[in-house]
Amino acid sequence: MGRAGTIAIVGSGQGGFQLAASLREAGVEGRVILLGEEGSLPYQRPPLSKAYLLGKIDADMVRLRPERFFAEHRVELRTGTRVIGIDRNARRVVLSACEPIAYDHLVLATGARNRELPVPGARLGGVFRVRTLAEAEALRQALRDARAVVVVGAGFIGLEVAATARALGLDVTVIEAAARPMARALSAPMAEHVRAAHEAAGVRFRFGTTLAQILGADGRARGIETTDGEIVAADCILVGVGVVPNAELAIDAGLAADDGIVVDAYLRTADRAISAIGDCARYPSRFADGPVRLESVQNAVDQARCVAARLAGSPAPYASLPWFWSEQGALKLQIAGLTQPHDEAVLRSDPAVGGLSVFCYRAGRLVGVESANRPLDHLIARKLLGLGLSPSPAQAADPAFDLKRLAAEA
Ligand SMILES: Cc1cc2nc3c(=O)[nH]c(=O)nc-3n(C[C@H](O)[C@H](O)[C@H](O)COP(=O)(O)OP(=O)(O)OC[C@H]3O[C@@H](n4cnc5c(N)ncnc54)[C@H](O)[C@@H]3O)c2cc1C
Repeated sequence: MGRAGTIAIVGSGQGGFQLAASLREAGVEGRVILLGEEGSLPYQRPPLSKAYLLGKIDADMVRLRPERFFAEHRVELRTGTRVIGIDRNARRVVLSACEPIAYDHLVLATGARNRELPVPGARLGGVFRVRTLAEAEALRQALRDARAVVVVGAGFIGLEVAATARALGLDVTVIEAAARPMARALSAPMAEHVRAAHEAAGVRFRFGTTLAQILGADGRARGIETTDGEIVAADCILVGVGVVPNAELAIDAGLAADDGIVVDAYLRTADRAISAIGDCARYPSRFADGPVRLESVQNAVDQARCVAARLAGSPAPYASLPWFWSEQGALKLQIAGLTQPHDEAVLRSDPAVGGLSVFCYRAGRLVGVESANRPLDHLIARKLLGLGLSPSPAQAADPAFDLKRLAAEA
């Protein structure tokens, strides 16, 4: 499509917002319509399990832009508007409450939703999830009065909430089916480092067990029972067992999906008038052996910029290096590249600096670096991986070896 015409964006989260902003930055002149089912202005999710939950910042500080930004940039933001279908032949999106909207190009930035936990008691009062601002607000209020918290799932969000609850002085138990935290995302040594950091902060873990039921009285959760038969009392339960991509609009419109809307290297679906970005999209990454679907701010933002550039007339395959961060109390975790799967994990640490980095290798090549409280390692790793450089495992393990110089000399 040319620089004019109507671009409709479904989903006004991190990716959808960024796309609208980047289209204008790139000089696209046509209509930009940003459709979001949530009632609020676009906001960022990362603080919801960290500073916002702690009570350090308020809702207006998580907004991506003030309301006037949208009018000033001629972005037609329609909040509280759910798209319920796509008519590909007529190039229209169907809305739940008003007239369909015609598009020249449609971008699906629908994100993901919390995975449900099919156990008795899952809908009792005192059981929370944290994906949206409204959910985070409900959890924030509950934490004010809570004494004991059970977190179900030792993934990034579960552990961020666990650290926040500990910082608020609450008793915290984390239940995890795998044998270690963030088992699918982190190397074994980094997972061990993370476990130790949380335990030092007073978090209790129960690994290798799952939730049998949530126990309640008078409609409110009072604790949980694990499949091992252990009962843990709690007045607040956070379920953080992963997400499901919102791919149904694409599937119902006859587009391919496989744990995410399938797109090509340009982030286009098989229908050239429809793209998909962010948490909902599965794309072929040059940093992985096959297609991947990532859940990170970097991924949503950079994919939005890639699509904006294409729609502005400068198409290029999406090639950004994936990176990610998570803050869990005093633990600042950063990941550069895609570390899974790997067949060799090399530790880099230095008692004088503290923290730990794990350099992950696949078939002898560096594929990613996990860093805990070593921000410099993370920055260097992004440089090395972006340039396709692979220090040897011996170099990575030697704290005296200058990785920065290696990157600078390339
Ligand atoms: C609590 C929390 C903490 C996080 N912390 C970090 C972090 O520390 N670092 C990091 O890199 N990432 C973090 N993330 C992940 C990051 O926020 C997401 O990867 C990012 O928001 C993805 O952007 P997106 O645009 O794809 O989806 P989203 O931001 O989720 O936006 C999708 C939007 O689409 C809307 N939508 C869906 N279907 C429809 C429809 N049919 N009609 C209209 N609207 C629709 C949804 O309601 C939603 O508002 C965190 C996520 C959460 C939930």
